[in-house]
Amino acid sequence: MIGLLSITGTGCSFYPAITPVAHKQQSNVDNIAKQNVEESIKHIHLDLDGLKSGLDKHEGQPNKSEANEQFVVDFKNQPIIDITKELEKETDNTDQDGPGEDPVTEIVEEQKVIALTFDDGPDLKYTPQVLDILLEKNIKATFFIVGVQINKYPEVVLRMVEEGHLIANHTYYHPNLTTLNKAELLKELDDTDDLIESIVGFKPQIVRPPYGAINKEVRQRIEETGRSIVMWNIDPRDWASTPVKEMYENVMTNARDKGNILFHSFGGKQIQNTVDLLPDVIDSLTEEGYTFVTVDQYLDNDE
Ligand code: ZN
Repeated sequence: MIGLLSITGTGCSFYPAITPVAHKQQSNVDNIAKQNVEESIKHIHLDLDGLKSGLDKHEGQPNKSEANEQFVVDFKNQPIIDITKELEKETDNTDQDGPGEDPVTEIVEEQKVIALTFDDGPDLKYTPQVLDILLEKNIKATFFIVGVQINKYPEVVLRMVEEGHLIANHTYYHPNLTTLNKAELLKELDDTDDLIESIVGFKPQIVRPPYGAINKEVRQRIEETGRSIVMWNIDPRDWASTPVKEMYENVMTNARDKGNILFHSFGGKQIQNTVDLLPDVIDSLTEEGYTFVTVDQYLDNDE
């Protein structure tokens, strides 16, 4: 397990589910990743706004008029959540390397994996550009998609799946899940899953809560349904209209094995910056030896 995340100031905590098992046997890699994480206690500022008030007042089944409402993210009016990452102490993965080790085994190249994730889509402006780049670079990514947008642009969701990307549930109306009762929360997830299934023929298994807003109760309610929660551990802040160069430096500085980078393919004022950043960041991470994976490879298969 990589560890526990705590939301500073609120006392909330959650498991980030960024715990790959495929490489558990690589104790060196794990230790390096652990050091990297420990050295980079991060404050992730979440400042995403959800929807216009019209989208927040949904009741009953989603219908066409609701779905046609504009999905707008107003960053300035959204409360900021500070997330501080902490590590649970691991009890295994002791480095077995010793001075007498066969030198051949020490030459084995590190396998570093990293995930590109895109939230809040699909749309018809930025998401297709992101998909074009991923196709050209032959990279598979993960899209945390929102019901309102899925309902508008099902063909883009179909394209995601056809081109080998992972799609995951980012709720229907993008609410703060900690403000919902259990029935409302489950409806957010189920309506989105049902819609996705009607388009691609299967339901996603993974959820990312909007704004990263989660508490013990929300986590429990989601996990009770058999779904997994996946957050992120690298945030170049594209939602805050961060310039391309600054985002590039953020990603390359924080990149590490089992990294999970938060991008958006819709919802921000300057998502074009994300599109502009993407080719360079993919090329540079590739040069540094990273393999791009989808976040299902970061789930703990022990459960
Ligand atoms: Zn979102």
